[in-house]
Amino acid sequence: MSNKEKIDLQILGKVRHLIPNNFIIERIKKHELQKNTGLVKTIQLRSSKRFTLEQNDKYDEFCDVLDSFTFGNDLEVIKQFDNFKETIKPKLMKGSTFGTINGVENIDLNTFQTKKGCFRTLQDKTNLIVFWSSLVPKSIRALQQLNELLKQNKDLKLQINPIAISLDGDFNNLKSYLRDNQIKEFEHYRFTFGWDSSNEFQKALELNYLPKIVVVGKDNYVVDVTTKSNKIEDIINTYIKTGESVQESEEIHQQKDIIEKETYKQIKQTLIQTIANQLSQNIKLEQSDFIKLNLIKSHKISHDGNQELIERSQLNIVYDISVQSEQVIIQFLNEIKTQLGNNNIHIQKQLIKDPNGIVKKISDAFQDALKQNNKVIQDYTIKTETFNYVNEKGVFQQDVQLINKKGIFNLKFQEYQTIYSQVQPIFKKYQEEIEESDEEHDHESEQQQDRNLINNNINQLTDTLRSGLQLTVGQRFQTIQNYHKFGNDQQIQIEHKENQILIIFYWNDNKDSDRLFPTIIKFLLANEDSFKDNVRFVALSQHKFDHYQHYFLKNEGIEEVIDFYFPIEENQTDLIQYNVNTFPHFVIIDKIGNIRLQSRQIEDLESLIEHQLEEGLDNLKQLVNLNEEQYNQITQFLQSDASVNLGQFNNKRQFSMNFIFIEFQCGENKTRLSPIINYTIRDGKQKYVETYLKLLNKVYSLIQFQVNKTTQKTLNFLFPGKACKLCQNELNEQTPQYYSPFIDEFYCVKCAEVFDTKAIGNNKLRVKDNLIFFNAPLVDKSVLNDIDVNRLGNNLKVKKGDPYSQRHAIDCNGCDNEIRGFRYIVLNCLPGKLTDMALVDFCQDCFNQIRQGGTHLEKIVKRTSMYGYNPSMLLLRIPFYMGYYEY
Ligand SMILES: [Zn+2]
Ligand SMILES: [Zn+2]
Repeated sequence: MSNKEKIDLQILGKVRHLIPNNFIIERIKKHELQKNTGLVKTIQLRSSKRFTLEQNDKYDEFCDVLDSFTFGNDLEVIKQFDNFKETIKPKLMKGSTFGTINGVENIDLNTFQTKKGCFRTLQDKTNLIVFWSSLVPKSIRALQQLNELLKQNKDLKLQINPIAISLDGDFNNLKSYLRDNQIKEFEHYRFTFGWDSSNEFQKALELNYLPKIVVVGKDNYVVDVTTKSNKIEDIINTYIKTGESVQESEEIHQQKDIIEKETYKQIKQTLIQTIANQLSQNIKLEQSDFIKLNLIKSHKISHDGNQELIERSQLNIVYDISVQSEQVIIQFLNEIKTQLGNNNIHIQKQLIKDPNGIVKKISDAFQDALKQNNKVIQDYTIKTETFNYVNEKGVFQQDVQLINKKGIFNLKFQEYQTIYSQVQPIFKKYQEEIEESDEEHDHESEQQQDRNLINNNINQLTDTLRSGLQLTVGQRFQTIQNYHKFGNDQQIQIEHKENQILIIFYWNDNKDSDRLFPTIIKFLLANEDSFKDNVRFVALSQHKFDHYQHYFLKNEGIEEVIDFYFPIEENQTDLIQYNVNTFPHFVIIDKIGNIRLQSRQIEDLESLIEHQLEEGLDNLKQLVNLNEEQYNQITQFLQSDASVNLGQFNNKRQFSMNFIFIEFQCGENKTRLSPIINYTIRDGKQKYVETYLKLLNKVYSLIQFQVNKTTQKTLNFLFPGKACKLCQNELNEQTPQYYSPFIDEFYCVKCAEVFDTKAIGNNKLRVKDNLIFFNAPLVDKSVLNDIDVNRLGNNLKVKKGDPYSQRHAIDCNGCDNEIRGFRYIVLNCLPGKLTDMALVDFCQDCFNQIRQGGTHLEKIVKRTSMYGYNPSMLLLRIPFYMGYYEY
């Protein structure tokens, strides 16, 4: 024997006095062979008894002393003793005293008020205690199943005391779950601090794995602990019948084998020299097959360190394999039997599972459901061709996107629901079956293979089914189901009414959605009268209502302007139908119920809707699919000289145009939807486009196009003002001055630039509007005209509770420093289409240079010349930071 092998005995000798006398310590030498890990030799120490929960201090002391002796030894020794600690630590199990649980609070299911205290089992009843968390699906299932069992079986319920104790760290999660799901057969508690690794009780019951279901008898003794809800009825009934508490189960009682020393040696040799190779070279076994062979020699270590042999085992075999591998295993076992003899082999456990069979059953059920509904899975293609006008080149450039699909072509939502409701229970059944197949953790990775196989199969079938729902621009809108309105739990559908434009705004409480709300509110309020029945705007939320409670507190009143709806479930299928991958996401449905637009951002919603309102219902109804010849004629036109007429728009930010053709191909059948034109044009420049469209009309009637048109509205300013609104000082062409376009008033520099650092929030300023600065005298008067309405922003003020910060988290285009103090947005730079790129900003320092004609002005102009900046240009002053684009 090597020295290393004895180190554990030396250490054990030093701590033995800290272990109670009646604990038997066993030293087990094991040769273990597994398919994936090969042959491993280990020495284990094991105790026959555990410290009780009351002896926890003694256990801690034992661990401390033990650690001081194992410290500095090699990892294997440390691991060996860590495992030993596991066998001796306090653990609540069959036969333990359950005791009292501290640090819990009782929950009133009606009010959700809690009462702190402790929990004791009822002495005259059988107690059923479920430990669970709303974040662990498996534990939710167990609780629901038991709740159902008690609901159905009132006799059983009368005899027991059902308690559910949650380990949710966040009470809100738990509340929201209990509110939605009626778990009324149980009395509810929660651990005030959720899972807490320093809580002795939680550790002793291993509540890091959920669920744990404990049956505690009348005498506060644990009858049984399990993770399986379907065992509970039996456990309780047996207990009630016999009425007796059980003996501790882990103690070493049964007589163990001691085979002949020579025989043992021979088995060991064969295992090491031949069987290990035979197993590792057996390529016919599946990844998910589990097989374990071991050989054990074990001694009892007495208090004075003497060893007494208590076991010399046969070759033990455990396997859990798929049905396909059954023959392989039988053959393998026969080979071993031939080598070792029948008597020297002991099969401890054998399980034959059939994951491929389950996959087949799932697929068959899916095919059956399709057949019943007369649907087939097909290959089809969606081809989207976009012709984008490229300003620099003066031509249309083609871009083709092909989506190849395997799914059900043209699947309607109702049909999807019918099929899904047929297959979903079957999916669920097998999923649960495989997830709860085995309680043992010794071959977790092989079990995971099976779970993956089945879950992947289910996900793939679900995806295939769902993918047929996806709708493109140009197709008909389909009613959206399973939402409820703000402040009302009733389920409703989002429908389209003829002659009404429906705008669907998918949002979440993220920054990108948030910054759109001011514009949307302005848009809805300004058009309240004209919209009435003609335009309907709905905001559909990504998450369920509970997620947004804080948001609506902070943005009080927003729900009075916007119709908010919330999904009944997360990830509903409408997200697939309308291609919602990110939030925000707009879907616009026109008067006849065609999807006209699906997009993350819309440059000018108001203008777009204004033009759609002008469309005639009858015209829209005449839209027809495009045939091959018409398609060829239009695309030829797009590539012809006619586009010369668009050359007048030489600034790409002032004009954009594209044509979209969408074609479906399924087998031999081809369908091409009526073509789409998207274009954006500045106010007053319409005539240049009209010439082009007239030429197009000769090729293919314009009425047959779906046209999404946006007009960029512009403003002109009158300069100068006559006098300062506050001090009445005279203003003229020579005086630099400020102007509020929101109330149409001018201010002198002195009044407008007051900034009282001692005042609070907005009161730091005398004029609280966002102001435009005129850098008079103006060298270039053209800066007064053609200013985008959008560029002026919404004149927002900082929201209640938000900080009045002057750090704008935006870099200055003049000096690249982060903007602190006031932020100045150039109103004339980059005019036109408002994209993420479309602002030029200056900091306070650069502003001072611009205003005073300072030494750095030349540098600032040079750096911004690519955006067309000159120092006459108007600057919009934003006092406080409210978000990137919110001003
Ligand atoms: Zn003044
Ligand atoms: Zn700067």
